[in-house]
Amino acid sequence: ASWVPPNHPRRESLLIRERLVDGFKEGYVATQGLIAHGRGECFDYLIGESSIPPALTAERVAVAALLIAKHPVISVNGNTAALVPRQVIELAKLVNAKLEVNLFYRTREREELIARVLRENGAEEVLGVGDDASCTIPELFSERRRVSCRGIYIADVVLVPLEDGDRTEALRRMGKIVIAIDLNPLSRTSRAASITIVDNVVRAIPNMIKFAEEMRGMPRDELIRIVRNFNNEENLRSVIMFIRDRLSELVSKGITLEFSKS
Ligand code: ATP
Ligand code: MG
Repeated sequence: ASWVPPNHPRRESLLIRERLVDGFKEGYVATQGLIAHGRGECFDYLIGESSIPPALTAERVAVAALLIAKHPVISVNGNTAALVPRQVIELAKLVNAKLEVNLFYRTREREELIARVLRENGAEEVLGVGDDASCTIPELFSERRRVSCRGIYIADVVLVPLEDGDRTEALRRMGKIVIAIDLNPLSRTSRAASITIVDNVVRAIPNMIKFAEEMRGMPRDELIRIVRNFNNEENLRSVIMFIRDRLSELVSKGITLEFSKS
């Protein structure tokens, strides 16, 4: 990452890309993961690369859902391991969730590499590796349906940062509360999840850590109320209206950058 100029206007974004490229070179980020990140970046531009109000709302509700869950699980894929390894572990500890490796492009090698990254970052237990992934999600085919019998299979609440639409739908059909983090408010995942967080995973997880610290001491009734009062359809509408209003504002203010001779 040393080539990234310190004053580059998009330095942060370039450094995030570097982390994915490093993960790719180490063999645990899938090639398709790099493409998926680019799609995410596009939507991040549209929301202004910040945690917009409906995202913060969903993040808070998601933390409440994780805190009241009996068997909360955080699903980790290659991109998540590359971008927020320490943070997912910290969040898991705060809400008492299990960590499970769950890959769209599953290979034994990537699975084990991701588990190793998590352990190096302080995770004690990592589910879903090798023979541990011996339960199956109904209606999904091939390797994608294998999950841990102690993890996602029995989970009541699953946090899936960067999930695929198909799998989100299958988890919903199993009756689970699915929390998705996805920058695209129009993806199948976003539309199928119970709680959709339209935010970059690099902002969403740290925000959720803060909320978890604040909300851990809240009475259970209060947490249940927070989850009950949430309406995902309404929240996704707010996201889309936010983008619409932001684009309208940009149009009225002017798009082009001005240069004066110095
Ligand atoms: P779906 O299967 O849900 O319909 P898709 O097929 O359009 O979605 P996938 O390639 O399956 O897209 O998943 C990639 C998703 O992950 C994209 O919607 C993208 O917006 C999102 N994404 C990528 N990087 C990030 C990130 N850093 N933070 C949040 N979301 C991200
Ligand atoms: Mg998909």
